[in-house]
Amino acid sequence: MKIIIVGGVAGGMSAATRLRRLDENAEIIVFERGHYVSFANCGLPYFVGGIIRSRADLLLQTPESLAARFALDVRIDTEVLTIDRHAHTVSVRNLLTGIENTESYDRLVLAAGASARSASAQDSIIPTHTLRTVDDVDHITTVLAQADAASAVVIGGGFIGLEAVENLVLRGVQVTLVQRGPQIFTPLDPEMAAPVLDRLRERGVDVRLNTTVTRASGQSVMLSDGTTVPADLVIDASGVRPDVTLAEQAGLLIGESGGIWVDGTQATSDPLIFAVGDGVEKTDAVSGSGTLVTMAGLANRHGRSVADSIAGIPEQAAPALGAGIVGIFGLTVATVGWNEKRLVAAARAHRIAHTHPANHAGYFPGAEGMSIKLLIDASTDAILGAQIVGGEGVDKRIDVIAVAMAAGLSASALTRLELAYAPQYASAKDPINQLGYVAANLAQATSATLQWHELAAARAAGAVLVDVRSAAEFAAGSIPGALNLSLEDLRERLDDLPKVPLIVHCQVGQRGHTAARILTQHGFDVRNLDGGYRTWLAGTITSPILERALA
Ligand SMILES: Cc1cc2nc3c(=O)[nH]c(=O)nc-3n(C[C@H](O)[C@H](O)[C@H](O)COP(=O)(O)OP(=O)(O)OC[C@H]3O[C@@H](n4cnc5c(N)ncnc54)[C@H](O)[C@@H]3O)c2cc1C
Repeated sequence: MKIIIVGGVAGGMSAATRLRRLDENAEIIVFERGHYVSFANCGLPYFVGGIIRSRADLLLQTPESLAARFALDVRIDTEVLTIDRHAHTVSVRNLLTGIENTESYDRLVLAAGASARSASAQDSIIPTHTLRTVDDVDHITTVLAQADAASAVVIGGGFIGLEAVENLVLRGVQVTLVQRGPQIFTPLDPEMAAPVLDRLRERGVDVRLNTTVTRASGQSVMLSDGTTVPADLVIDASGVRPDVTLAEQAGLLIGESGGIWVDGTQATSDPLIFAVGDGVEKTDAVSGSGTLVTMAGLANRHGRSVADSIAGIPEQAAPALGAGIVGIFGLTVATVGWNEKRLVAAARAHRIAHTHPANHAGYFPGAEGMSIKLLIDASTDAILGAQIVGGEGVDKRIDVIAVAMAAGLSASALTRLELAYAPQYASAKDPINQLGYVAANLAQATSATLQWHELAAARAAGAVLVDVRSAAEFAAGSIPGALNLSLEDLRERLDDLPKVPLIVHCQVGQRGHTAARILTQHGFDVRNLDGGYRTWLAGTITSPILERALA
């Protein structure tokens, strides 16, 4: 069996090494058009920032090490140009010598990844760098080393844009972050993104929302808001699109999302050709339709399973949840599944739970807060997605929710998860259990809630807002027009409340829930403001965004 693999990084190299472990006799050739194989592309921004100090640490393998350990024939600086499906050959060009030749295959694996998407039509006149390869970071660090008080513009506030911003700031670079739309980090809903924007601005990043780069001249860049900002360097992190060049040329089926169509065994529409990684369409775990998820975990996992398929032990790929995580100046931001914007756009009925727990017992020193948002199917109680923003412990909780989603657990079932606890790690009621309690209350209709962006309309329709926090908390900041009646006084002062629909709220939603239970049992029509004052405040800072998203 002769197997050719196009692309020698995440998906391609996972496939190659697994194939070798399964078949000692196969001939395995990996073509990589770059000069490096199996390099740590996820670590590139951290080399720019100096957290990864040695460039050599990014280079995990060489053709020589892969030949020695796995008997792989890895040909770097070699681009696959075309596929001839009838002759079962590929044409390749050595990019150093220009020499072209053809190579036959019994099975072909496409792992060509994604390519950078340009930020705007004017990009041709703006010299930008991407942050995708070892060559890219070599260019970036050279430019920065030559500049005195270096400045940079980063285009795009997604995963790679945020990592670029953080690492440039760590390096002492003055950074402007230019975001085309009204919100930073769009996998989040706006009220969850507000702390990210705050953190960027606290750390001196000049964040420009609803802005694009229009022109570059010398060491400065002109923005669509009419201003000019300094820029020794412009990094384009405005997104990626699947590289389907070879697949299209070969007439392979392209999926609805624009990635290469594959079945559950990673086979393309040609049974001898397989594809994995960023170039490939995944099946969305929430909708079951085609989607693009350009993440390393899936590329590595599918690289392994394509080897199994070729070796005759096929495994059906699990649908993609789209789990992702990024750190920005000590804040951890993690998402999985769908967000509210997407559910609203798809008109999918859902419930929402916001909580603001601490990562571990509050009495144990060093507890750090986090904000969690859970999206739940309104009819089945299935978990549709989650977002978590905060300090320590965010990574653990998003992974628990991702596992719960993969296992098909309902939101209410989060109450029953038995999670490891000691005061320095968690709470006896872990944040995940607490989230489950909120979800179960919604499912059982023991609690009716209202979202922060529904508050204004409810009050306009006659509802009265009651803040059940203490007088001191109320004085420190409150929602305009709210009555203050603390939870502790509520039972004694029921007669003071108007007999109209009530909305209660506290700081994070928990006392509000208790107040709502008291009032409901005394015959009031009451809803609890989900996530309390904290979520309302975060959402209100950016409320025009959600209004637009919901329009
Ligand atoms: C800066 C950065 C940070 C990231 N951080 C994270 C992270 O923290 N977490 C995460 O989950 N994901 C992260 N990712 C995404 C992750 O790296 C990708 O999802 C993953 O590498 C995709 O694997 P792949 O095999 O599909 O493509 P790649 O790893 O991109 O490999 C594709 C290779 O194919 C080669 N190639 C393309 N066409 C040809 C051709 N015709 N002939 C020969 N060779 C060809 C390319 O040169 C390339 O080296 C990050 C990506 C970048 C760029």
